[in-house]
Parts: sequence; structure tokens; C-alpha cells
Amino acid sequence: MPQGTSHFVIAANRLPVRWSPVENRWKPSPGGLVSAMLTSLQDVAPLHWVGWTGVAGDAPAEFGEGEEEMSLLGVSLSHAETELYYSGMSNATIWPLYHDGVRPPEFHRSWWNSYVEVNKRFCEAVASVSAPGATVWIHDYHLQLLPKMLREQRPDVKIGFFLHIPFPPADLFARLPFRQQIIEGLLGADVIGVQTNRSRDNLRRTAIFLGAAEAERDNLLVVKDKAEAEYKVVVERFAIGIDVARFEEAAQSTAVQQRAEEIREMVGVEKVLLGVDRLDYTKGIDIRMRAFGELLSEEFFAPGECSMVQVAEPSRSNVNQYVELREHVEQLVGKVNGLHGQLGRQAIHYFHKSQPFEEIVAMYLAADVMLVTPLRDGMNLVAKEYVTARQDDTGALVLSEFTGAAELLRDAILVNPYDIDGLKRAINEAVRMPTADASAKMKRMREAVSGNDVHDWVRDFVNCLVATDTESN
Ligand code: UDP
Repeated sequence: MPQGTSHFVIAANRLPVRWSPVENRWKPSPGGLVSAMLTSLQDVAPLHWVGWTGVAGDAPAEFGEGEEEMSLLGVSLSHAETELYYSGMSNATIWPLYHDGVRPPEFHRSWWNSYVEVNKRFCEAVASVSAPGATVWIHDYHLQLLPKMLREQRPDVKIGFFLHIPFPPADLFARLPFRQQIIEGLLGADVIGVQTNRSRDNLRRTAIFLGAAEAERDNLLVVKDKAEAEYKVVVERFAIGIDVARFEEAAQSTAVQQRAEEIREMVGVEKVLLGVDRLDYTKGIDIRMRAFGELLSEEFFAPGECSMVQVAEPSRSNVNQYVELREHVEQLVGKVNGLHGQLGRQAIHYFHKSQPFEEIVAMYLAADVMLVTPLRDGMNLVAKEYVTARQDDTGALVLSEFTGAAELLRDAILVNPYDIDGLKRAINEAVRMPTADASAKMKRMREAVSGNDVHDWVRDFVNCLVATDTESN
């Protein structure tokens, strides 16, 4: 049985690196989650991170200098596997199914077989670097078979799994031809973390409904292993937060504040409405734009009163449904601007490109109203980032009830994102919200977000995992 020397191992589909063609080397990819992990897990360092580079072909043996706190182990994916395991099973079966089936999930045995193969490869890689008794933290929906595979291969390690996306209701999950393998795969973990109470309840009910576990207490399931021996699995909500200090600092910087002023001047209206999303069909971008277009047509706003800025970050452009969504959204932008734009003033300013961190924060500062209206979203960090950036307690947040963030941000204007009239009322209410009211709400939301930031999330999850009793498990 292969064993390594690392006492803490993270397994995720992607390694925290990206290839820089200009510098001809792998560079650490920035991002709140990665730096939070490194900061919060300092005590257990050195860490080992196992994942794919994002580029098909053999994984590099070396990732260059500058990674003292963390060793990286690349898992190779062939071109075919990037299609079958990644674009197929992960992003065209599991992703839409887990997001309430907002697009019909496709089921293909060839995708499934590839998913099994890649999970096995991750298992070999994780086992090869884990020291006896190591703690392994597995991330997300690409690797749902890994907990069980690892438990069977390495019964000595402690296994945590965190699902960043929603877990669907039992009757939706039951459509999966591979449902038994997936639920049993997940239940190989000692701790399964999810974003919301809803996901926790769904997962728990599904496990019991499919006969894969029995209930012990609220957050505890009992599972039998291959030898019919019982072990316990904690299923708990750990709502992910943002790096609050990083956003506060950026929002206070003079350069970002000046940029926010520039953005307001360029948009040139009284009220700036903002959407920041990956271009994903779960985000409700199209319905939001239709609602705004109807408000303009029905003259809810005076000419020059409101414009919308929409960042639609490119995403999964090799999956058909994303190509179609892009066409649809861009047609809508054209339609609304064609009807309501004027020379020098667009109704919707639309960007189909990724914006850097400082630009996003400047947009948050420039926006009077933030529109976060996904049809389903595990958490939605944008909502938390906007609230954190509004340190003068101005601004209003329109937030879909169907986001994880809505479990925390009860002072937002909560909407059913499918209800276009409700959405119109919410946008109108946000634009017209009295200052004192907005300020009290924003303050409470800001405090709620800073009370549970990404460092708390890492610590809470790891403490829970470490506290599980491996002996009785
Ligand atoms: N983001 C960014 N540049 C962009 C668009 C988005 O840096 O052009 C960031 C945004 O600030 C947030 C993240 O991408 O941190 C999106 O996270 P969220 O949870 O809202 O949605 P996800 O994309 O994970 O579904």
C-alpha cells in the first residue's frame, strides 16, 4: 500500500496554478480560497495539494520555485478525459442536476466510466503522498467517488469532503443512473460539509432514502463498510465566507475609490445597477436583463436615471449549453440597448471578459444596486463581496432566495428569480430605498458577512474533521 509523508492533503479538481505563456512557467493562481487555506492551515503545513493543471496531457513533474508552504502533485488528464470526465460528467450531468435541473442533465455511460477512472487516479495520487494517519480534505463535485475509494485503500486516514455546489432534493438526485455509487462514494468521508441547511437535509434524506445510511442523530449518519462494520459520518453545514480583510482593504484604497468615481462618471446616470457573474445558466442573467428592459419600457425610470453594468465572465465555452446562453444573453443586451440606449449612454454595459480583483471592487463601490439573482447557487460570493465593500453602509442588494447567501443575508431584498414581476418590484424597491433604511440593512449584512469569513470556514471544517473519532469510525 503506497504511503507518503504529508500530514495534510488537499484534493481538488484544479491545482492552484496557471500557466503563464509570457513567463513560460507555472504561476500560483491568486484567489481568496487558496490563500485562506494557506493562512489558516499554517499549523499543519507543509500541505500537499493534489489536482489537475487544467491543461490536457501529462502533468508536469515540477511547478517551479516559490511554494514552500505547499507541495503540488499534478494528476494527468487526457484530451478525451477533459471531454468525458470534466466537460461531460462533471459539467453537463452533475452541475445541471445539482442546480435543480435548470438545464436537462445528460446521462452517458462513457462519461461515467471516465469519471470513475479519474477518481481512481486521484485516489492513487492522494494515497501516495499521505502519511500514516494523515488528514485529507477533498473538494467538490468532480471527486465524489474519492472518499469511499480512499477509505478502502487507506483506512488509516481521516477524510473530509466539502461540496461547494448545492446538493439536490432526493427525487432529483434519484434520476442519476449512478446514484448509488455516488452517494456511497460520498459516504466514505468522516465529515461531509455542505453550504446550506437545505443541502444538508437533502443529502441526509437521500442517503437514507437510497438505503446507503441510517440516521443516528440530526447531523450524524451510520454507514456500513464492505465488511459490514459500522462507522459514522458527520453531515454538516459550513457556509463558505470571503476574505473580508482583503475586500475591506481594497475598498479603502485610494486607487480603487478613484476608479469607482471614474466608472460612475463614465456610466453617467443617477443610479448604477450591477451584475457580476460567470456566464452560467444558473445565474439568471437573462431574466434579470428582461426585468430591467421591461422596467425601462414601462418608464419606471426617468431617462438617464438608471443603467445596468453586467460582467459576464467567460466560462465553460466548450459546453454547448454555455454557447447557447451566450448568444441568448448577447441578443438580449442588443435588444434592450437598441430600444433604450442613446448616443453616449447605454442601457446595459455588458462585458464578456474576466475583470481583475481591483476592478470588481471598484464596480462594487460604484454600484447603487447589486443584482444577484441566480436560479440556484451553492453560496454566491459576489453578494458577500458587495456587502463587505460598502463600508459607508450605502447601497442595496437584490438577492435570489435560491442562493446559499440568502440563508445569511436576510436583510437583502429577497426575490424568487423566476418571477419576473417580482424581480421588477425588487429592482424598483432597491432603486428607491430610503437612505436610512438602506443603511441599517447594509450595516447588519456587513456584520453578518464579517462574522463568518473564509478563515472561520477553513478552521470550522478542519476542527470538525480533526474532532471526529477515527477509532469509533
Ligand atoms: N470574479 C472575478 N472577475 C470577474 C467575475 C467574477 O474575479 O470578472 C470573481 C468574483 O469576485 C467572485 C467569484 O469570481 O469572487 C465568483 O464567485 P461566486 O461564488 O459568486 O460564483 P461562482 O463563479 O463560484 O459560481
